[in-house]
Amino acid sequence: MNGRENRLQKRCPRLGGPVSFRYCRDFPGETLPCGKILECWWEDFDVEAYLKDYLSEEDFSRLLQTQPKGKVSSLLELIQKAQETAETATSEKE
Ligand code: SF4
Repeated sequence: MNGRENRLQKRCPRLGGPVSFRYCRDFPGETLPCGKILECWWEDFDVEAYLKDYLSEEDFSRLLQTQPKGKVSSLLELIQKAQETAETATSEKE
């Protein structure tokens, strides 16, 4: 981890108060991150790539299995579209 993600915070829709990304990733009492981590953080940074790198392949698959199927695929599509938009914007600046 480069530390940037560690410092990110947001309002948790479940708790109603601010939480750090670290809290969501090292979800207390669980072996996996919070099941809403992709949904909550995809707009802030490439949380999918981060978790693929941070978790074992098996744990990443288990995390995806905790998500409602339709929601995961639509989230992954949104993440992919956002990445494509960012890449297009970056290449247009150059
Ligand atoms: S990932 Fe979970 S703990 Fe973190 S903000 Fe979202 S709902 Fe709250």
